[in-house]
Amino acid sequence: MAAPNSVRPPAAGRPGRNVPDRRPPDEDPQTQLKRQLRGGIAYLGAALIGVWLLQMVMGPLMPRAAEIPYSEFKTKLAAGQVIDVTLGSQIQGVMKNPAPKSPQDATSRFVTVAPPGGDLDLLKELGAAHVTYRAEAPPNPITSFIFSWIVPIMLIAGLWSLAGRNLAARAGGGIFGVGRSKATEVKAEEVGVTFADVGGADEAIAELQEIIQFLKTPQKFARLGGRIPKGVLLVGPPGTGKTLIAKATAGEAGVRFFETSGSEFVEMFVGVGAARVRDLFEQARAAAPAIVFIDEIDAIGQSRGGGIRLVTNDEREQTLNQLLAEIDGFKADAENPVIIMAATNRPEILDPALLRAGRFDRQVALGNPDLTGRLQILKIHSRKILLAPDFDLERAARVTPGFSGADLANVINEAALLSARRNAEGVTFTDFEAAIERVVGGLEQRSRVMNPKERQTVAFHECGHALVASLVPSGDPVSKISIIPRSRGALGYTMQMPREDRYLVSVEELEDRIAVMMGGRAAEQLMCGTISTGAVDDIQRATQLAKRMVTEFGMSEKLGAVRYAGQRLQYLGNAVDEGTDSSAETRETIDAEVRRIVGEQFARAEALLTTHRDALTRVSADLLQAESLDGAAVREALAREQGTPVSR
Ligand code: ADP
Ligand code: MG
Ligand code: ZN
Repeated sequence: MAAPNSVRPPAAGRPGRNVPDRRPPDEDPQTQLKRQLRGGIAYLGAALIGVWLLQMVMGPLMPRAAEIPYSEFKTKLAAGQVIDVTLGSQIQGVMKNPAPKSPQDATSRFVTVAPPGGDLDLLKELGAAHVTYRAEAPPNPITSFIFSWIVPIMLIAGLWSLAGRNLAARAGGGIFGVGRSKATEVKAEEVGVTFADVGGADEAIAELQEIIQFLKTPQKFARLGGRIPKGVLLVGPPGTGKTLIAKATAGEAGVRFFETSGSEFVEMFVGVGAARVRDLFEQARAAAPAIVFIDEIDAIGQSRGGGIRLVTNDEREQTLNQLLAEIDGFKADAENPVIIMAATNRPEILDPALLRAGRFDRQVALGNPDLTGRLQILKIHSRKILLAPDFDLERAARVTPGFSGADLANVINEAALLSARRNAEGVTFTDFEAAIERVVGGLEQRSRVMNPKERQTVAFHECGHALVASLVPSGDPVSKISIIPRSRGALGYTMQMPREDRYLVSVEELEDRIAVMMGGRAAEQLMCGTISTGAVDDIQRATQLAKRMVTEFGMSEKLGAVRYAGQRLQYLGNAVDEGTDSSAETRETIDAEVRRIVGEQFARAEALLTTHRDALTRVSADLLQAESLDGAAVREALAREQGTPVSR
């Protein structure tokens, strides 16, 4: 559909305007430059006038005559050298120069100040010396008021408004274009993504169909009495394809796509963000039908009330208000349909005003894909990649539970790079597994040298994890253990492959998980007789999990099924707002329960490893030798041990 310019709403009279005067949208660079030049000249002129006026005011106060002591004045007066005197707040006058060098030198001006209280004899003395004298009229109170107050105030106000107008003009796209929206505009035919490129999001796609209907045939939609949608909020953890699906919606509907991010509106200067929002929507309306996509909208849409805020952020509030005004300003405009989409991974911190009916009233949730979803995504991303003939995509999907769409795309890409490095015919499953390791654990750093004792400790530690994982009832099978240092601070790692996607987890399973985490330190303790800093990450995760069991899952008998934790940030795994309203005793009990759970599981891990000490010794020796082992080696060692009588 064509985008007629004439339907753009007039610039004035829209709600929420707060920058007074804006560049007309169609102004060409030439007139813009001229306008800026004119502004500059006016600025300079005002400054000159200001300086001149200041001098006028200050001028009379500046002594142009030589200042002399009062005693000298009296001496000269007595000697008959003074000719002319003006009496005011100070005494000014003309006196003869006793030894002139030139005719101009014959007289000189002087100024002096009478002592406090005045000189009562002065008039008599002046009369006796035949000096012409006069008095200065006291300053007119009205003129002096005007000069000392009105003029400076008017001057300052004038300069202020000039500067303000200049700033507003800039905010409207002057030299720096501060107020121009930074959105990238993608033409309908260049979007290039459709729902065929989005995997594992069938429900989200179904929900977006209505939006597409509206964008494609707005008149029909309106005639049939459908409530015109305005805003769609995409929520979900990072990397689940929110940006992708927004773009694909534009691709499906065949409309223009304006993409921007919440952080691009947040600036130092109050009013700039609002100006950008206005500019963005002006552009979008002119290009309708269109989708405006604001990524990471939490940057501007954070809740205004409540919570601790170190600074009140006027700029953000203005920007948010402007955004709300723009959304509300959308009419049921079948001629120029514009849909606003936004994405966030923290929906719970959004301002409720954004979620009100008629704004972002549709929420579409995206989550990490399940097995079929992962298979779809892997298929999509391996379209352009040459896979080895026996590559089993389904198996690949099976070994990647918990991976987001972005993770999967990343793994496939990494696998392709690895196979290319080998000059291979196609990507094999080995490449894929190596790529998983890279994506999960960062790149291998063989160059970093550990001393033999450290290596031994790390080997015991990782074997401890692996054995406990194999021994507890619900432990996920170990797929690999390694003591190759990784860049992310860990010295070794144990990889477990979950058997299936889990949605409900029992208390026993959680305890097993904690026991596995404690297995590392328990093995160190058992085999080295001492403990190291290597368990820092395990301890943190175990503590966190135990705390959630107590405060969120209601798994402590002492505390019961009561929630003690604060608000949980839904999609950002670990971030928890601590609840601070429980009593000191309750908090003590929570701490004690957390300590008990972790302590019990540590003891359990230690007991398991003590029982299977032989397997631990054997596997860690193999690991030290080979640097990495697969899960089969661990299971083998345990199976062999089962045949022999358990040592002590
Ligand atoms: P988000 O915006 O949710 O953080 P993105 O849309 O930016 O995630 O995803 C980044 C990349 O990951 C996409 O460009 C795409 O290549 C891949 N990706 C993510 N989710 C999916 C999915 N569901 N289907 C296909 N590819 C996906
Ligand atoms: Mg994104
Ligand atoms: Zn560990």
